[in-house]
Amino acid sequence: MPTMEFMSDMLGGADSGKPSLFEIVAQHKMSDLLEPALRHVTSVYAHRYPRYLVRALNWHEELYAAVMLMVERHYLRNYGGSFTEHFYGMKRVRTGKLGGGDSMTRGDVWRSLAFLVGLPLVKSRLDQLYERESGGEAARLLGGAFARHSDLQADSVAEDTTNARWRRLQTFKLAIGRLFRQYYPHANFVYHMATMVYYVAYMFDRTGYNSPWLHILGLHVRRMSAADYRAMDARGPATSSLAAAPNGSALRATRNLVARVLFGGLDFLKVLLPLSIFFYRFLEWWYRSDFHKRIQQTPVPPPPLPLRPHVDGVALPEDQSLCAICEKPRTNPAMVPSGYVFCYPCIHRHILDSGRCPITLARARLEDIRKLYSD
Ligand SMILES: [Zn+2]
Repeated sequence: MPTMEFMSDMLGGADSGKPSLFEIVAQHKMSDLLEPALRHVTSVYAHRYPRYLVRALNWHEELYAAVMLMVERHYLRNYGGSFTEHFYGMKRVRTGKLGGGDSMTRGDVWRSLAFLVGLPLVKSRLDQLYERESGGEAARLLGGAFARHSDLQADSVAEDTTNARWRRLQTFKLAIGRLFRQYYPHANFVYHMATMVYYVAYMFDRTGYNSPWLHILGLHVRRMSAADYRAMDARGPATSSLAAAPNGSALRATRNLVARVLFGGLDFLKVLLPLSIFFYRFLEWWYRSDFHKRIQQTPVPPPPLPLRPHVDGVALPEDQSLCAICEKPRTNPAMVPSGYVFCYPCIHRHILDSGRCPITLARARLEDIRKLYSD
């Protein structure tokens, strides 16, 4: 029954500790989704609080890497697997020691971190660099007609003959750039191909490693057994060792409290990060759906209330069509941000003198004056 054998291979086979390819793929998918999900949540809030969050958005990848370094280190050290591996009930074990004492060494943790956090960051930076160096979408659409930034640079280098050493350096840089442009797509292809090959080999039990990185690290990913969970329960929360420390000074007590809150927070991520993915998926659906458009078609909101005239300001004329400054019909009507309209010469002179709207006394600059084209 080849079909049945194939299916049982897909589902993990006789080795109950070996996660199925489905679990591995789901786990990789989840870890790929975390970054865009968090970026989306940040960008939603950046619109609301631009002062604090726009900068965070510009450095999002680095910030994300820094946060994930902390998170992954916590999970690798306390649960023996990356955050998403632990979420799917898996852990990392040293190859060849699948029996009892199979936990990772400190070195394994750091090397795992390099592949879990460092590699994606470097890859994403290189992708961006390639996008920029190759001229991005514009170059692909316009083909040869689109002069590349670095080709223009090459011309300028050729013209400048003043400093030979500087010129050599520039030529070298350009050559590196050209090599990068030429070979990066191939490297990228190999990267994705290697992942694919390992998936297939893993599925057919040709290898115990589900990714080339784990092969380099010499680590297998295994399902957590009932014994693992029991051991984890017996150990209690990761903070128990800290809590049990003899209570000496107030300083130590505070330090323990901070550590406990921090560790508690990292454990809480098990709930929070998946929730952020659901939030992201929900927002994606929301913006695509008709539902969202229907709600946007609701009536135009009422205009904001007009700014009240200031008691020390110029009084509003009885006839609203007159200019409040010269009290004559407006010539060349112009508006200030407060919403009141005057003759252009009157308001220009007034703002030049006082820097304020004559009626509300709200601050206004000459650049704020807007000409009205009513006919
Ligand atoms: Zn006037």
